[in-house]
Amino acid sequence: MHIKIIVAGPRGRMGSEAINMINEEPNFQLVACIDRKNNGKTLNDIESLPNIDVPIFENAEECLASIEADVLIDLTIPEAGFNHTMLAIKHKVRPVVGTSGLTNNQIEELADLAVKNEVGCIIAPNFAVGAVLMMQFVQMASKFLPDIEIIEKHHDQKLDAPSGTAMKTVDLINEVRPVKAQGHPDEEEVLPGARGAEKDGIRIHSVRLPGLVAHQEVILGGEGQTLTIQHDSFSRSSFMSGVKLAVEHVLSINSLIYGLENIMDFEQ
Ligand code: NAP
Repeated sequence: MHIKIIVAGPRGRMGSEAINMINEEPNFQLVACIDRKNNGKTLNDIESLPNIDVPIFENAEECLASIEADVLIDLTIPEAGFNHTMLAIKHKVRPVVGTSGLTNNQIEELADLAVKNEVGCIIAPNFAVGAVLMMQFVQMASKFLPDIEIIEKHHDQKLDAPSGTAMKTVDLINEVRPVKAQGHPDEEEVLPGARGAEKDGIRIHSVRLPGLVAHQEVILGGEGQTLTIQHDSFSRSSFMSGVKLAVEHVLSINSLIYGLENIMDFEQ
């Protein structure tokens, strides 16, 4: 049996990768797209997208009410993504959300709605399996090497800084070692910003350049040694194995799960 999927944001860089991934998965079937342009057209009317005959809806409510689907993959912008996810849950279509920038309040609201409707939902700020492993390794190492700085590097079209992944890395570190002040207590920035942003004592440095996709380097320092843990996404296809895992997993849950690490099996 096919898993029937709606994609919101099909013309975007992530959305078009998701469509390619669905197209290549024998058990997945694209059944419709939600796009803010091209209402009434079909996907094969859009140049640069695969030749698939599925309808495009500008109105998410109309799409979810008229198309039989199991999963909605949302890869848009926070405002639209939140709205699409709410609507999908109400229509018992299980959302897999890669759209970043949802607030904690929005995630809590979606979690409540998912439980109320007994509908599974997965939201992950980073669908790259390697990035999730990088964060897990950093968490493990930070117990032993608690002085840490983060350098995150992204393409120059990214709107938010620091990245959600950098913020999440700090949260994971805080779970296993007490928050601590780092560096010299009397240090002074001769040029403001030279030491990067600070979250719970950890410095985060954000690099934005063309040519980059999504990269993070975490440097842990100890007496006479450093340990560097680095992950690089060189293309958006790196996120798709995580999206695929989430599509398969979301069918078996009846509540909201936040973070890809919570559906990965780390047992040896
Ligand atoms: P993108 O190339 O800018 O694509 C965004 C898409 O959303 C575009 O097709 C855009 O349409 C559409 N959109 C914008 N506003 C909309 C609205 N109001 N209603 C419906 N659709 C709307 O961005 P991207 O690189 O694909 O990233 C998409 C999202 O995924 C972002 O939030 C990004 O931060 C996130 N992301 C997540 C991961 C992860 O692993 N979770 C990885 C990378 C990126 P127009 O072309 O008409 O503007």
